[in-house]
This record gives sequence, structure tokens and C-alpha cells, in this order.
Amino acid sequence: MGLIPFDDRDGVIWFDGQFVPWRDAKIHVLSHGLHYASCVFEGARLYDGEIFKLTAHSERLVNSARVLDMPMPYTVAELDAACKETAQRMGLTDAYLRPVAWRGPEQMGVSAPATRTHVAIALWEWPSYFDPEVKRRGIRLTHARYRRPAPNAAPWQAKAAGLYMICTLSKHAAEAEGYTDALMLDHKGDIAEATGANIFFVRDGQLHTPTPDSFLNGLTRQTVMEIARKKGIEVIERAISPSELPSFSECFLTGSAAEVTPVSEIAEHRFTPGDLSLGLMEDYANLVRRK
Ligand code: PMP
Repeated sequence: MGLIPFDDRDGVIWFDGQFVPWRDAKIHVLSHGLHYASCVFEGARLYDGEIFKLTAHSERLVNSARVLDMPMPYTVAELDAACKETAQRMGLTDAYLRPVAWRGPEQMGVSAPATRTHVAIALWEWPSYFDPEVKRRGIRLTHARYRRPAPNAAPWQAKAAGLYMICTLSKHAAEAEGYTDALMLDHKGDIAEATGANIFFVRDGQLHTPTPDSFLNGLTRQTVMEIARKKGIEVIERAISPSELPSFSECFLTGSAAEVTPVSEIAEHRFTPGDLSLGLMEDYANLVRRK
């Protein structure tokens, strides 16, 4: 089956406070967000008709806009309501939600304080970020071409479009070599995350995960840490060097799109998805569906 282009689908998109037919949700080529990456977004999932952690996602969108110095014309409550109505109007029960905010075409140039912040919300069916069969066995990662920028080199607390340039390049390079994703290091050379998900390791029944001090402290990461601690699993947040990779038995990624995805390889290192990863994968799947 070929890809269905994202501008040629049925349904509606919430666009600056109104619902417009999907194919009419267009912006001008001279939009500031397109040229200067003044754009922030969210990615959430709808399970059985409910958007998981919706308010946390809306809060992060508002915060990302604040970090990028973009005035946000809607409150968290208004964004929540708009997301829910989008889900209702699209009539889907299991889908991916994409709110996005960007500086418009009102002014062009590096400095553009006269631009308005525009906001859109779209929802589409997106069953699994990684192939479900491959996911159980574990996905294969290689090293990324790029590192996460140093915390004083980019507004890393924001889920900002500009920060994804190095993710797309790294993921493309990994895929061209037959891998599914890539492991990004931070500016110091420690392990940071994958290109669109956080990372965890298992050693002697304990979970180890990098401290999110130059990359997104993902909502799924926080949820999985909470689940693990409730199960009595010790979770250690710390700087993790790539030289430690041979000492870990299991590895998995977390993200709203990726959910909990076991990893079987990082370049020459091998991991076997075991009770801990598969258990958390199932616990997360049950939590999001309130089973
Ligand atoms: N890091 C990056 C680069 C991401 O794109 C994502 C997905 N939003 C995450 C981490 C995980 O964040 P979350 O669990 O909030 O989806």
C-alpha cells in the first residue's frame, strides 16, 4: 500500500479556532515557522476514545511556545477542549494527535515580533510507530550521526521543530543502513536518547536512564518510571557512558508514539528483551487503556 499524503485525506483539522476541511488546512509559503523553525508541536495518542495525558501535552505545548518566545493565543483548557472536539469530529477511537503552533506570515526575517502564533490540531490513524512484530523482538539501533546540542546551545526544554533536524538526518542515515533508529549522545558524549523517544537500560534488575538535562523529559518516560517504582523496581537517573553498553542486559525506548519499545541491538551491542522490558511494555499498554 502506498503512503497516503498528509494533505490529501478526509476529515477536519482544527485551525486557529475553527474546524476546516482536512484538504483546506493550508498555510502560506512565507510563514515564519517554515523558514526559521519558530514552531512547536505535540504528539499524543488516543486510546479507546480517550487522549492519554492530554492536559500534560497541552501544558507542554504552551510551555514550548513560551520557551520559543511565541505568544500562545489559547489556554491549556482551550487546547484540551479543541483536542477533544477534534477527536470527536474525526470519529476515531485509536489515533495519533498532533497539535502544532507556529509563527505566521505576518512578518519575515530573523526578528519577527509582529507575527501571530497560529495553532492547528490534527488527528489520524497511526497504529504503531514501530512494526508490532518487530517491536516484541526488539528494534535495532545504530549510533546517530549527530549529538544532542549542549543545553546552552538550543532551547532543549521545548518540543520544537528545529530540534528535529538532527533527528531526521540521523534516522534517515540509520534506516539507510538497515537499522530502525539511532542512539544520540549528548554534548559530553554520554547517552541521551533515540531520535524520537527516551531510552532505558536494565542491569541486575535495576533500571538506568540518562538524566534529561539536555533533551526532553518525555511524558512516557515519567509514566514508565512511576510504573516501575510502584512495582518495586529501582530506577536510577544518571549520566550513562556508551562504554557501559556491554554491561546492560535489556534496553527499551519510551515515547507517546513509540510507547514502550524493546531494543535488541545498539550497533555491536546485543540485548534480549526480558521480563522487565516486556512487563513494562504490557503495564504501559494496560494503563493507557485503563485495563
Ligand atoms: N525525545 C524526543 C526527541 C521525542 O521526539 C519524544 C517524543 N515526543 C520523546 C523524547 C518522548 O516524549 P513523550 O514520552 O512525551 O512522547
